Amino acid sequence: MRSKIVAGNWKMNKNLADTETLLAELSAKLPDTNAEVMVSPTYVNLVGATRALENSTIEVIAQNMHFAESGAFTGEISADMLLGIGVNTAIIGHSERRAYFGETDAILAKKVATALSKNIRTMFCFGEELEDRQSGNHFKVVESQLKNALFSLNASAWSSIVLAYEPVWAIGTGETASPEQAQEMHAFIRKTIAEQYNTDVADGVSILYGGSVKPGNAAEIFSKPDVDGGLIGGASLVADDFVAIIKAI
Ligand code: PEP
Repeated sequence: MRSKIVAGNWKMNKNLADTETLLAELSAKLPDTNAEVMVSPTYVNLVGATRALENSTIEVIAQNMHFAESGAFTGEISADMLLGIGVNTAIIGHSERRAYFGETDAILAKKVATALSKNIRTMFCFGEELEDRQSGNHFKVVESQLKNALFSLNASAWSSIVLAYEPVWAIGTGETASPEQAQEMHAFIRKTIAEQYNTDVADGVSILYGGSVKPGNAAEIFSKPDVDGGLIGGASLVADDFVAIIKAI
């Protein structure tokens, strides 16, 4: 059965002291849950976060990683560097990486391949822009993002993939896809994977929704059958809000 997951993407927020404070608060307030709970602080705070969460069920995950094993890539972080500090999951393809750092589907395909070859679980983000939805192209765009980055993988690789559907127009904007829009797209994603692979692969992959999930809308979004949790930006920076979202699942 696929996992329920609630993951917090902290982006470029919080210094080490603030990271430790938030993690202490989260640990103290963490509700009993069957869901996997993850937090993704910025690179320089990953070590501190793994230490702060040594005795916790909360997993620390990375916001990004490079596709090369090592070498002349100033400012970048490799899979082995993550593994060396006990980080075994990486977000790949966040829309901010695509928009501000030029990460194309081809680059993301390489990152995913490297991550999986190193046994790093991949949380792959994708989703349409506002004009894609307005022009009715959102299914086509999402399908091509999946195909270009993931569909050359073997079926077995999918046990290490988590998908995060994040319509770009809903990220950090306060706009949320309605629960019905989220369900419609998640069902489409599962159908597309079933057609490319089989229903076992499609039914086994967790598909998270991301885009302005808040305590007030989480339960309704998570109640949809093909929504397996959320990737949470802004609301994951406030312990009470993140805890409320975890409770909602
Ligand atoms: C995100 O950046 O992945 C995200 C979903 O952000 P927010 O929840 O702030 O929209």
